[in-house]
Amino acid sequence: MTFLEILNHHFPGVQGLDRFVQSTQAALHAYGFSSHNSIACAGVCRDEITRPLVDAIQEAWGEAFNFSSLAGMLFLGKTGFLAAQNHSPRADGREHYIFYALTHIALGEQGEIGLCYRTGRDEPSNACGALAALQVELAAGELDLSLDPLDVEMSLIKKRLAPLIAPGVQPDLLDLTRLAHRAIQEDLEAMLKLTIQPGPADYAVFTGIQIHAPDRATFVWPGSSYAVVRGEKISLKLSG
Ligand SMILES: [Zn+2]
Repeated sequence: MTFLEILNHHFPGVQGLDRFVQSTQAALHAYGFSSHNSIACAGVCRDEITRPLVDAIQEAWGEAFNFSSLAGMLFLGKTGFLAAQNHSPRADGREHYIFYALTHIALGEQGEIGLCYRTGRDEPSNACGALAALQVELAAGELDLSLDPLDVEMSLIKKRLAPLIAPGVQPDLLDLTRLAHRAIQEDLEAMLKLTIQPGPADYAVFTGIQIHAPDRATFVWPGSSYAVVRGEKISLKLSG
């Protein structure tokens, strides 16, 4: 199989990074979201290789509120969500929030899961490194679920994902990436329920998995794509 065949096998519906962001932008323009009346919020892993996605989001919508934690998990809490909403422009009495929340994974040339090369280092590296570390702990049967104050985000990742792993199952990195996406999606929805007042605010949600391919090519597998406009939930079709 070629790289693109492997990519599509693991991630049906995958798109190039720029195409993904452009299609979210086009879909939202149709519902009145613009760079002048909206704030984007970008939740990705802290890993520097996720930066092209944040750059593309900011090119489309302007400076984005930073939602990022390791693995793209959403640990900013109510305070972070409310702060972002309070920073939105207000136009004609309405506010617009656009939430991008994506975890990530690398894919090697032969389809090696998690494999990537970093600038200035000869040996291969992992992405997502935090999820790879969790996978190693799980494989060794040594999962430590205590909250380590010197490793807060990693502790929270373990606490959040461990209950999602079916008993007796030994997840690989791809499984853990999908579980992280599920947790991010659930946590985002829970936070939106808690913090958004739909009356004066329209908002949009895009979740997914950012995929780092060889030669710095970047793709996105879109998960959820929808907007809530004047209280009505609208499913958004992203042109592939
Ligand atoms: Zn990562």
